[in-house]
Amino acid sequence: MRTPIVMGNWKLNGSKESVTALIKGIEAAADAAPNVEVAVCPPAIFIDQVATLCANNSIEFGAQDISTEVSGAFTGETSTVMVKEFGAKYSLVGHSERRQYHNETDALVAAKFVAIQANGLVPVLCIGETLEEREADVTKKVVETQIKAVIDLAGIEALENCVIAYEPVWAIGTGKVATSEQAQEVHAHIRSWLAEQSKVVAEKVQILYGGSVKAASAKELFAQPDIDGGLVGGAALIVEEFVGIIEGAK
Ligand code: PEP
Repeated sequence: MRTPIVMGNWKLNGSKESVTALIKGIEAAADAAPNVEVAVCPPAIFIDQVATLCANNSIEFGAQDISTEVSGAFTGETSTVMVKEFGAKYSLVGHSERRQYHNETDALVAAKFVAIQANGLVPVLCIGETLEEREADVTKKVVETQIKAVIDLAGIEALENCVIAYEPVWAIGTGKVATSEQAQEVHAHIRSWLAEQSKVVAEKVQILYGGSVKAASAKELFAQPDIDGGLVGGAALIVEEFVGIIEGAK
């Protein structure tokens, strides 16, 4: 049995006040769902605050992006060791907004994945196709290529200790959620493709769906056999929505 994860990606949003209100607003629901892991990925500057707020609840937290480097002359970067010191468990890696706006290649994503694991965090590897790629019927090839870059660098065993987030780019922040059938089809493909390389990895790895998940769509998505929870953007900033999504994973 894979534990479902409901993870909020807050992106570039929040203030000291809203961060406190959000954590206070969701913590009771997180604590009341012991079979669901609830996590948030705030902007790096709020990790300290989130760590303090989550000291006595079950909410885990992580970074949205991380440097391949641990320390040194790398202006503007945040390292795995730094976020780990505050108690972070996860780091997202390869989010489509990083790939799109910061030109992150599969090779860089793989290097970040390795750095995240090397320093004791769990990578949440984000993958997914664009609308053009879906229309060209190359979705499966695209997600295979994105995962293969990590396998080529780190080995298949590295995927035993990671989370994969399948996020069709056309569904992120657009309000266009993939149907549960569309999502399940890709999740099942990812799992069977992984099984050709390692049955252990395929059975173990949690594959989250991301892309305009809302309280209203969560339950049906999470009921699919290969969907192990969600990575949630916009709805993670609204207490009632995020609580509803946690309920949908119970
Ligand atoms: C995301 O940022 O990972 C995401 C899925 O965003 P949204 O839920 O807003 O589509």
